[in-house]
Amino acid sequence: MPKLYEVKDSPGKGKGMFATVNIKAGDLIMREDGRMKIVGFWRRDHREKQAEAEVQQAFLALSPAEKQEIIQLRDDTTINGSKIVRIYLTNAKSEKGDSVIYLKMARLNHSCVPNAEMGGFGGVAETTLVATRKINKGEEIFITYRGEHLDGPRAERHQGLMRVHRFVCECRVCSLTGRELVMSDIRRKLFQSLVSRRFEAMPTAADAQRAERGGIPRESGSSLTYREKVAYSFLTARIMEAEGMSGVIIGDSYFSAAMALLAQIQNMDTFIVLPSIEFLRELFELTIKATSEIRDADSPEVRNVKSYWTFLQEHNPQVKIGLGLIKRVASEGIPASKAYAKNMMDGSFVSRAECLEILKKERVSPSV
Ligand SMILES: [Zn+2]
Repeated sequence: MPKLYEVKDSPGKGKGMFATVNIKAGDLIMREDGRMKIVGFWRRDHREKQAEAEVQQAFLALSPAEKQEIIQLRDDTTINGSKIVRIYLTNAKSEKGDSVIYLKMARLNHSCVPNAEMGGFGGVAETTLVATRKINKGEEIFITYRGEHLDGPRAERHQGLMRVHRFVCECRVCSLTGRELVMSDIRRKLFQSLVSRRFEAMPTAADAQRAERGGIPRESGSSLTYREKVAYSFLTARIMEAEGMSGVIIGDSYFSAAMALLAQIQNMDTFIVLPSIEFLRELFELTIKATSEIRDADSPEVRNVKSYWTFLQEHNPQVKIGLGLIKRVASEGIPASKAYAKNMMDGSFVSRAECLEILKKERVSPSV
């Protein structure tokens, strides 16, 4: 595979990694084996001396050339310790408490709207770097140093980056001014609160009581109703797109909106709400589009979503009947469908029995 990147000076940031060719979203930029892997490094309660000993030991195991490369990496941490420990803490990536340095990827700089993401390394110390959007030849390749995809307004990001990495970010969104900056900050603030609500775990006792009284269906273990989950997931995807973000997470958000909507539809099994069915179709289309942008159209991720949607259209009675009715409403000259169109425009629904009646008139035998 030809090399897609080069490491060179990045003004104000030391070294950086740059694209040497045009890179498409979803392209694998590089694969790299980690060095100085320390299992459980972050799971132990670190006394400084112990961290020092572990890092020194891992350093001694390196080849002379690798030692030389490590020594040249940035040392930005505020934590006290030898130079090697400070370099390690600045550059090591951690996953589930394990810690490892990727010598080449350590040159990647941060952006609050990154164009690439590193894969996890799990039990193996190898990881990948994948473009999350189109990167033009000569453009710098960025990842995010912060865990979250959209992590709060500018002041908050700057505080965090300064505390941990000791630099002031001047990326595209950090350079916004006036109204554009205000809008970006609002989007990120909103995103944060939506995400924290989405992953809020158990319903409170009051929520549970309210649900019982009102009969509002909820996902088990979640404090959200399906309707809220649909709205929150859909909004997080939209906000990320508006903020110029890309990546698998957008497709994932549309997909969780689709799943919550499907659960909501199935919960009301005596009705078919046509606008819900239409929205479900739109959510599947958005999932496929967002995922195809970052993964190949033939990738397992995209194929799985497509085949699931095909399965629902063929085998889920509400989806099948709903889509059939929508089609009839759209086509002209069928009286029953015209009657139904009025219902749909009102946003109201008809019962399953009525659906069956309509379909019977159309001489279609639904498989329910
Ligand atoms: Zn920034």
